[in-house]
Amino acid sequence: MEHPAYLSTTNACKLCKPLGACLAFRGIEGAVPMLHGSQGCATYMRRYIISHFREPMDIASSSLGEKHAVYGGGPNLKQGLQNVMTKFGAKVIGIATTCLTETIGDDVPMIVREFRREMRDSGLGELPTLVTVSTPSYSGTHTEGFHAAVRATVEQVSTRENSTRMLNLLPGFLSPADLRYLKEIMDDFRYPSVILPDFSMTLDGPALTDYEKVPRGGTAVEDIRRMGGAAATCEFGRTLPLNETAGQFLQESFGVRLHRMGIPMGIRETDIFFDLLEELSGAGRPDKYALERGRLVDAYVDGHKYLFGKRAIVYGEEDLVVGLTSFLAEVGVVPVLCASGGRSGRFKSAVEQVVAGILPQAPEVHEGMDFYRIEQLALELSPDLLIGNSKGYSLARKLGIPLIRTGFPVHDRFGAQRILHVGYRGTQSLLDRTVNALIEANQNHSPVGYAYM
Ligand code: SF4
Repeated sequence: MEHPAYLSTTNACKLCKPLGACLAFRGIEGAVPMLHGSQGCATYMRRYIISHFREPMDIASSSLGEKHAVYGGGPNLKQGLQNVMTKFGAKVIGIATTCLTETIGDDVPMIVREFRREMRDSGLGELPTLVTVSTPSYSGTHTEGFHAAVRATVEQVSTRENSTRMLNLLPGFLSPADLRYLKEIMDDFRYPSVILPDFSMTLDGPALTDYEKVPRGGTAVEDIRRMGGAAATCEFGRTLPLNETAGQFLQESFGVRLHRMGIPMGIRETDIFFDLLEELSGAGRPDKYALERGRLVDAYVDGHKYLFGKRAIVYGEEDLVVGLTSFLAEVGVVPVLCASGGRSGRFKSAVEQVVAGILPQAPEVHEGMDFYRIEQLALELSPDLLIGNSKGYSLARKLGIPLIRTGFPVHDRFGAQRILHVGYRGTQSLLDRTVNALIEANQNHSPVGYAYM
């Protein structure tokens, strides 16, 4: 299908790259994310993150103005680092660049080296761990920023350790509920693991009497250090670049065997993850998960009459769309369009891999999409439902079809941080929500009312 080459982006189907980096840094124990850029960037990202997770989210900023765009932002960054150390008592500061500082060419690793030297010379005590990552938002998405921050953390913190019976689990950008479930699975397999990052507490914590400037939880720096000695790494993401990820770094630098797989969504992709855990642990899967899987198969059968032949448009982060497409194909829904703002160049082949053997024909797949183009295509494709973040709401409303909210951001519903996407349990939840949304749409559109056949 030919479409005009639009010159502008209208409502991008992606978010800002350093936003993803800030989220990843939020999953490290004692960490404060910091932007080297203007204050507006930090304000926009905090607003976005708080609205989705409904948790406080501090993002420090080197707070550059016009003058610094001309003369460089080094002094501001150093002053900002000192302020974060004093005011937050941070154990880790994750520094991400922004469009402005990438454009003026500030050499952040060099500025941080100078800062370390100056602090050491002045004898002002121990410095926190400082991690820097380059995240120009004009080239990339929030997901790429997230993965870049994870890679930078591992590169700058992990060391060569004696080999130990441990799995490095690099899940990518999932929900706090997903991370809690993954930890539960690892505990049930009784296999030691480090999940990086882990914001299951820092972005979905309990109510506290006193406000904590740096929330509890997150992956401990000591554990990140030990990742160089792990027995294996498991990294979720079929569209990830082959040589730029944390898992790849650990394999090349420390010989930690890398297992790359899709986000475990749907039965086939989840089975791959569980097969790996069985292989590593040398144990069968706990009964609890065999039962979860069995109930899910039963629910697939029960839900088939509602879902078979329905047409879906799936959009959002590339790997999440791949996982959702895998799930939809399994349950009989026809994904007619898979769309993402990312431009990995691997999106189409990843979608084709997960639907192979299930669908007679792979769905239409588009990278670099905005919501303007998704809408143009949607008008031609006549979908029955949308699956993606809340940015698709206006389109769903215009088409009069349900939107199943997944991923990030979800600003117009409550409990986004508790949406479970992964594993048999997450798939069960997605299935129930999808079937119920279609039943509700039938009821809403029926002129005579729709109760039960
Ligand atoms: S897109 Fe660039 S300028 Fe805009 S908030 Fe992100 S980093 Fe800042």
